[in-house]
This record gives sequence, C-alpha cells and structure tokens, in this order.
Amino acid sequence: MSAAGQRAEQIADLLETALQPTGGEMLEGAFVDHWDPGTADPSDNRLAVHRLEELFRGSGFTEADAGQIQAALSRQETPHEAAAHLAGRLRAFIGPLVERMLADPDAGVRANGVRAAAVALPHERWSPLLTDPDSPAVREAVVRALSRFRTPDIAAALFERLQVETDPDVRHALVFYEGFQEVDGAASVLVDLMLHDPSPTIRSRTAFRLEHFDAGVVPPLIEALRDPACVRAAAMSLGRIGDLRALPALIDAWSDPRNRHSARFIEKALTDIANRAANAAPPPMPADLADRVRALLDAWEPADWLGRACKQRDGLPLNGNQIYIWALRPDGEILCIDHESFAHHTEPETDPLTCFAMMVQGARKDPELRDAIPRPPANARPCDSCSGNGAGPGQESGCMSCGGRGWLTRSS
Ligand SMILES: [Zn+2]
Repeated sequence: MSAAGQRAEQIADLLETALQPTGGEMLEGAFVDHWDPGTADPSDNRLAVHRLEELFRGSGFTEADAGQIQAALSRQETPHEAAAHLAGRLRAFIGPLVERMLADPDAGVRANGVRAAAVALPHERWSPLLTDPDSPAVREAVVRALSRFRTPDIAAALFERLQVETDPDVRHALVFYEGFQEVDGAASVLVDLMLHDPSPTIRSRTAFRLEHFDAGVVPPLIEALRDPACVRAAAMSLGRIGDLRALPALIDAWSDPRNRHSARFIEKALTDIANRAANAAPPPMPADLADRVRALLDAWEPADWLGRACKQRDGLPLNGNQIYIWALRPDGEILCIDHESFAHHTEPETDPLTCFAMMVQGARKDPELRDAIPRPPANARPCDSCSGNGAGPGQESGCMSCGGRGWLTRSS
C-alpha cells in the first residue's frame, strides 16, 4: 500500500473505533487513564487532552477542540460527558475529510475512505464505489461495509456484483453476505457456485449460505457432501433445513474416512433432521413409488438365496442383520423376513422406528427411495456406536447396538 494509503488506514482505524457504538468507551479510556477526578486540578488534565490530541492528530482535531475538552474537564464533567462532547465534535469535521478520501486518486486512500465512511456517512454516499473499475481493494471494502445491511436494494446490488465480479478476494467477500435469500433467482446462482467454483472457500461458504433457502436446495446440498471442501458446511445446512431426503447421503458421508474431522457435524445434522421431521407433518409418499419399486425389482437379479427369498415375496431388500432381512414391496409395505427360520417366516413390519430406519438404509443403495423415507418416531436418534451406519465401526457385519438399523429410540 502507498504511504498515503497507510496514512488513510490509520485515520480509518481511528474513525472506525471512535464512531462505533462502543467508541465512547475508547474515548472514556483515554480520559480515565490520565485523569484523576479526585484531584479536580485542571492542570492534571493536560495529560488527558494530550493523549486525545495524539489519538486524533491528522484527522482534523484542532487547538480549539483541545481547549474545549480542557474546559469540559475543568468543569469536572464526567469522562463520559467529555467523551460524548468529543465524539460530537468528531462528527462535525469527519464528513468533509471522508469525502476527500473517497475521491482520492490513490486506491489505498479510497479503500480506507470506504471503511471510514461506513461508520460516518449514509451508504448512498459510498456504495457507488462497489463498481470501482480500477481497484479490487476498493470494491472489497464496499462489499464488507455493505454486508451489514439486509435491505432488498443492497442485497440486489451485491447479488448483481457477485455475478460479474472476477477478482477472487472480492468474490470471497461477496459470498459471506447473509441476505441473498431475499433476491429472486439467487438460489440457482449460489448452487452453481457451490458445485462448480474453483475456490474451496467459495464452495463451502455458499453451501453454508444455502441453509436460508427452501427445500429446493436439498438435492444440490446432498451432492455437495461428496466435496471434501463442502462436506461440513453442507451437513450443517442440511441439518438446519431438516429434510429427510438427506439422511442416506449424510450416513454415507459419515462413513467416509476422509470426513473424520467433520464427523461430529454430520452426526449433529442426522439428529437435527430426525428431530425436526419427527415434529413436522409426515412427508407425502411419492405418487409413483409403486412404479419405482417395481422397476427396481424388475431390474434386479438376486445373487444369492437370501435375495431370491426377497424377490419371491415381491420385496426389494432394504437392509438386514444376523436374523432378519427387511424388504419393501411396491405397495409400500415393508416385510420382515426371518432368514434364520426354516420356511423364512415373513410378516409385515409394524415398528415405526424399524420402518423408518430400513427405508433410510434402503435409500443408501437406491437413491430413488430417499423421498419415501417415513416420519421417524419422536425419540429416534442415530445409534452412538455406528451413527446411523448400521454396520459396526470398520466392520462388515451389522452393528450390535442397534441391530443394523442405525437408529435407536432414546429409551432403548
Ligand atoms: Zn448401531
């Protein structure tokens, strides 16, 4: 940064601190450090005034201001009152100073002018620099300053910039904005960034932002679980949206050793989705479920006697354990087949937790079933031992804690 830019940075730092809602505390600190109200001797207050002069040198603080502060202190006003007086004085000269910074030919001065202007001036005075053609640093400063606002016009302006901005730092700043859900058409642009942007930071930030959108973003978020850069943010967003369709892919992501550092986020998403779905209206069964199950059954060639036992009963296997295998019929009924018994005793499964858990497991194999997962019981939670996986950790055989379901009820 140029020397002028560095000087502007100091001024911007000063104004940002002094004019924030808590800025009065900083000014008060400058008094309290050097001023002992117990002495009430005006000569002792010179240090306080000197300290303030140091703080504000170069930003328009004058001898006259120093005199006014000195006078305020000698009238034994409290530090708070003197600080408020100084803050008011600052506001009087700050406008012209910041306007000059915004129009400066030096990009470093303009960028810091934006930071200072953001606390001192209405946004209409500095937001046009969002399209500053010469300096990404200026555009980035405007994006960061505008990100505090949620109004429709600012959301629309930032969204427009997001679609044309080529500088990576400005793009990073843009995807941190939290108000794009108010803008028509934003979901498809953000989904495209999440799935295709070359920057891992942009992909994961957009995955995080999509939590504020409707259920239409669930399928792309499920797709993003396969991206190591996105898996944590996508899991958190899916957990907040609470859509049952995400459960099979979340369990797969949890089982992937590459995601072990994100495991607890994925586990939380599994629980959040079950909790939310348990308290919501049951999801409608897809009207074409019978056709889909029929097509899957027709295309399936059983490789062993267990598979043949399912197919003979017109059932698509969902999952099993050492004793039972569960299979879905085209009419939506789930069969429980005792493969240990001689005649493969079969009856309809009636336990709600098992029906829910088996459909989740089945949808891991056949994603077409993921929108047919029924509502979980209110107390369902992923099994602690296998986190919904149904298999023991690192094992081929079924989890002993949950009997291969992957889910437990809180009481069991
Ligand atoms: Zn388990």
